[in-house]
Amino acid sequence: MKGKILEIENVTVSFDGFKAINNLNFDMEQGELRVIIGPNGAGKTTFLDVITGKVKPTQGQVRFKGRNTRSLSEHKIARMGVGRKFQTPRVYLNLTPRENLELASNPNKNVFSTLFQPPSVVEKQRVLDLLKTIGLVHKAEMKAEFLSHGEKQWLEIGMLIAQSPDLLLVDEPVAGLTDEETEKTGELLMSLAESHSIIVIEHDMEFVRQIARKVTVLHQGSVLCEGDFEEVQNDPRVIEVYLGQQDEE
Ligand code: ADP
Ligand code: MG
Repeated sequence: MKGKILEIENVTVSFDGFKAINNLNFDMEQGELRVIIGPNGAGKTTFLDVITGKVKPTQGQVRFKGRNTRSLSEHKIARMGVGRKFQTPRVYLNLTPRENLELASNPNKNVFSTLFQPPSVVEKQRVLDLLKTIGLVHKAEMKAEFLSHGEKQWLEIGMLIAQSPDLLLVDEPVAGLTDEETEKTGELLMSLAESHSIIVIEHDMEFVRQIARKVTVLHQGSVLCEGDFEEVQNDPRVIEVYLGQQDEE
């Protein structure tokens, strides 16, 4: 069954009178991969904070899977199926990718039981599938501290997927990655988009071109325009507020 996974209506977020989000409207279908771009300070991170419940709207409504999230805690919203990937990877550097994924797959586990209790056959298979998805089977048994920055990013994406989110929020996943890692990250997100709804915030235009279907441009806390990559790239308003600014960033 398809429908809207996310509906944001007339949302404003004020910080001491300054509107980081200003009467923003946005919605997205179940199963969509949406890229959000916009200049620094446009409100992109605040936009994600509103979806996860970290920040509550001053005005307006956020509905996730049809449910108004206003009264729900960040934790509750995460449990409803919102997974967020932050810019810096949050993996256990002293554990292997396999152990990190075992830990993430089973919320009742802790580091101790992961290390000392063997996983069930089902768990093992699930972790192996995740390792394949993120392309780290060959590095499954080395400490995560020896992974490259890109590999750590993929591991963290794997750890989020282990929690079976319906909506995955990814903030600047390719910052600091090599070109090859960037391309692989794009392939990973596109393959995950076959079974998840995903919002990606990104600055890297080559990467956006690689993965984008529909792009939303934020500016001064509102949606400036939406469309496919070409439409957005050629929109004079976008060129003015965003692309024209690239060199200064
Ligand atoms: P982006 O991620 O697009 O760069 P942000 O969402 O981080 O933008 O910020 C949007 C605007 O809101 C910025 O001008 C920022 O300084 C301001 N802002 C963000 N968070 C806060 C806060 N907690 N208090 C005051 N101002 C904030
Ligand atoms: Mg930001």
